[in-house]
Amino acid sequence: MNSVLLIFIDGLGIGQRNKDNPLAQIPGVAPLAVFQDEEPEIPFGGFLARTDACLGIEGRPQSASGQTTILTGVNAPQKLGFHKQGFPNQALREVIGEHSIFLQLKKLGITPNTFVNAYTPQFFNGTPRWKSATTVAMEAAEMKFRDLDDLKNDDALFHDFTNSVLIARGAENIALRTPAEAGKILAKIAGQHRFTLYEYFITDKTGHDQDFQLAERVLPALAELVRTAVENVDLKTTTVMITSDHGNIEDLSKRNHTLNEVPTVVWGRKAKETVHGIKSLADVTPAIVNLLQND
Ligand SMILES: [Zn+2]
Repeated sequence: MNSVLLIFIDGLGIGQRNKDNPLAQIPGVAPLAVFQDEEPEIPFGGFLARTDACLGIEGRPQSASGQTTILTGVNAPQKLGFHKQGFPNQALREVIGEHSIFLQLKKLGITPNTFVNAYTPQFFNGTPRWKSATTVAMEAAEMKFRDLDDLKNDDALFHDFTNSVLIARGAENIALRTPAEAGKILAKIAGQHRFTLYEYFITDKTGHDQDFQLAERVLPALAELVRTAVENVDLKTTTVMITSDHGNIEDLSKRNHTLNEVPTVVWGRKAKETVHGIKSLADVTPAIVNLLQND
């Protein structure tokens, strides 16, 4: 069976090769480092689609509307008339509730699908005030959330895939993981599902904090996670993609999101055909549905 693994990286854009871009300063960050006016060398035969995140609407692209667009194929900023920060509002929740990729695949009979990120007991014990686009999508498609037991069983990743954030918070019986260990777990889960999603957010926080030292810690580790996942899936049957909702970390001179394009990089099955169809964030879900529908 053919499958797709999507690794969503918040706040990763295509910037200039300069001193404010940690991707230009820090070694070992392929395939995350993509620059304007330069053809990148992408490991493992990946292809790049420089992807528009502005979606025809004025202003800086933002997380809630960008993520909604990635997860549905609906141009959410156009629908709202503006870029929506943070978490989805009611209008975006409705778009996700009707059009999420999980729901589209389920209706087509393309299952099983999964979200790899583990949720903490706080999520299960209460109603969170704010729900991420993915959480809304998971609930609307009535999918199972992974928890810390799954994490302990090497059957989930925390959003910080090394678990250091969880351990620092005092979580018990959680072991530190190397990026390579996490990448192998991600590849294993992708091998058991048709569509697998993993989300990483610390890139966006690093950009808002303009924190070069944090960038030095997280970017090589994230790059290794992605490379290990690509290396450990069967690229004849699996398509691996990374994408982002807007730029941020590629310009640490400003705390804001950027207007830059974002790198959608695709490896494996039908990678080349797939990047040709991806011009904006609204093309990601249709590309994935197309890959899985035409088995
Ligand atoms: Zn974002």
